[in-house]
Amino acid sequence: MIPSVLPTYNRAPLEFERGEGAWLIEKDGRRFLDLGAGIAVNALGHAHPDLVATISDQASKLWHVSNLYKIPQQEALANRLVDLTFADTVFFTNSGTEACELAVKMARKYFYEKGEPEKVDIMTFDGSFHGRSSAAIAASGAEKMVKGFGPVLPGFVHLPWENAVEAAKAAVTDTTAAILIEPIQGEGGIRVLPDAELKALRDLCDTHGLLLILDEVQCGVGRTGRLFAHEWAGITPDIMMVAKGIGGGFPLGAVLATEEAASGMVAGTHGSTYGGNPLGCAVGLTVLNHVGDPDFLADVNRRAGLFRQRLEGLVADHPEVFESVRGTGLMLGLKCKPPAGEVVAAGYAAGVITVPAADNIIRLIPPLNLTEDEIGEAIARLGAAATALTAG
Ligand SMILES: *Cc1c(COP(=O)(O)O)cnc(C)c1O
Repeated sequence: MIPSVLPTYNRAPLEFERGEGAWLIEKDGRRFLDLGAGIAVNALGHAHPDLVATISDQASKLWHVSNLYKIPQQEALANRLVDLTFADTVFFTNSGTEACELAVKMARKYFYEKGEPEKVDIMTFDGSFHGRSSAAIAASGAEKMVKGFGPVLPGFVHLPWENAVEAAKAAVTDTTAAILIEPIQGEGGIRVLPDAELKALRDLCDTHGLLLILDEVQCGVGRTGRLFAHEWAGITPDIMMVAKGIGGGFPLGAVLATEEAASGMVAGTHGSTYGGNPLGCAVGLTVLNHVGDPDFLADVNRRAGLFRQRLEGLVADHPEVFESVRGTGLMLGLKCKPPAGEVVAAGYAAGVITVPAADNIIRLIPPLNLTEDEIGEAIARLGAAATALTAG
C-alpha cells in the first residue's frame, strides 16, 4: 500500500523534535550537530532568537494579503536587496524552483519585447540543479530527473561543466538567449566554477548580447563568505535566482534583476499568490540584516578558513574514508572513498548530520553562525564516523 506521504524521498530514520542553533534534537534528547542546515537553508541555525521574535511579532499582526495590495515588508526586503547587490528590481517567490521559472520567462520575454523572438535558447551545464518543475528539470536535462516526464520543455542547450567556457563559445547561435549557471554546483557535488571562467562567461554574454542568469539558490546569501558567490569573481549577472538561505527556514525565494533584463515583465506577465507575503518578507529582512553585515561575512570567512584547515587534517587522518576537501566558504564537500551514503549514515550514528551530493561527496553546509567550538565538535564526530567505518 502506498504510504500516506507520497514516497518520493528515501528518508533517514531520524525524527527531530526541536533545534537550537547548529543542533537538532530528537525526542529522547539525542543531539545531532547539523552540518546540513536543512540543505543550506537554516542560515542562522535553528530557532534563532531574532527570527523567532520577527516571525512571532509578524504572525500576531498579518500573515498574508496577496499581491493585490502594497506590502511594506516586501518593499523593505526588496530595497535592501537592491542596496546590497547589482539588482534594480526583485520578485519574490516561495522556492528556488519558482525563481527558476521566472528567470527563464524573464529572459525569453526580454528578447521577445526587443523584437528578437527567435532568441529563446538557454545554455545550461552538466550536473546542474535548478529545481523540479517542468522548466527546471528541462534546464538540468539530467536523465534521472526528466525520464518519464516528457515531453521535455524545449529551449535548453546542455553543455559540459568541464571546459564550460569553450563549450559555451562554440554553442552560441542566433537563437541563444542566455547562459544559466550555478557559480558553485550544490547537488552536482560542490563543484566550484573558477572565477576566471565566470568572468569569461560574463564576457561571452556581453560580446553576443546574451543574458547571464546565475542560480545562487544554494551558494548565495553569505554561504561562500560573500553575500553572493559571484562577488568573488568581480562580475555581476543580469538575472539571479535566490532561495534557501534567504528565508532562514521560512519558504522564500527571489529573482533579482537589472532594470534592462526585467524590462519585459510588465503588469500581468507574472504572478504568485503567496510570493512576497508579509510573514516571509519580515523573516527575510531579519536574515539579511544579519548576513548582509560585513562583520558577519568577515566572521564567516574566518571560521570557514578554520573549518577547512581542520577538514584537511581529517582527510589526512582518514585516507581510507576521505579523499579531499573542496568548496568555498561554508559550502564545503568531502570527497569520499566508500559510497557517500554510507559515510552520511555513519555520521548519523556519530551524531553529525551531513548531506550527500553527486560525485560521491558529502556536503558540509552548516548554519553560517557555526561556532569555533562546534567546528571542533564537527571534526571529532566526523572522525568518529570515519573510524567506525574503517573498523566495520
Ligand atoms: C535547491 C535548489 C533549487 C530548487 O529550490 P527549491 O526551493 O527546492 O525549489 C534550485 N537551484 C539550486 C542551485 C538549488 O540548490
